Amino acid sequence: MKLVLMGLPGAGKGTQAEKIVEKYNIPHISTGDMFRAAMKMNTDLGVEAKSYIDKGNLVPDEVTNGIVRERLAENDAKNGFLLDGFPRTVEQAKALEQILSDLGTELDAVININVDKDILVKRLAGRWICPTCGKTYHEIYNPPKTQGICDEDGSELYQREDDKKETVENRLNVNLKQTEPLLNFYKETGKLHNINGEQEIDDVFCDVEKILASF
Ligand SMILES: [Zn+2]
Repeated sequence: MKLVLMGLPGAGKGTQAEKIVEKYNIPHISTGDMFRAAMKMNTDLGVEAKSYIDKGNLVPDEVTNGIVRERLAENDAKNGFLLDGFPRTVEQAKALEQILSDLGTELDAVININVDKDILVKRLAGRWICPTCGKTYHEIYNPPKTQGICDEDGSELYQREDDKKETVENRLNVNLKQTEPLLNFYKETGKLHNINGEQEIDDVFCDVEKILASF
């Protein structure tokens, strides 16, 4: 099973990734883990990637693609993998096709966990924190007894910049704009499967299993 998993922040991608790798016994290959491993092992590409990251620069595609190529050539990825966080662009998607073709294989499916933007904003932006005891609340899922006030010590709750509605909306808009061409690319190749991520976690996974049953 060779898969790419996609989904906006808050769509529940991490939870589904865990379930998929457990059920199908394939490695979960996330970009972050891949970079960390390459840097830790001091591979040529790892050293090169580190030189960009240390300066706060973006790692160029040729380096990222090289790290993906090395990772996918490893033994544990021979019978399948779940790619998470890569590809991010159509160019990277084309590079991935080439890498897999060189390895004599191809992707089975791209799973996109779809959740309406307004729901994602509600999930991501409702977090409030107590400055005194550090307890966190969520407007909808875990509200304090009195709005804006900590249950424990009566302090006034505050929101971090990252948890504010406008910030979350901006971040999601940037993400949506970036992923749209990628989704179109995979739609055209016939590999894209949209899953309704607005359901309960187990129902989302049930839909994933239905898709994957045909491979
Ligand atoms: Zn408190």
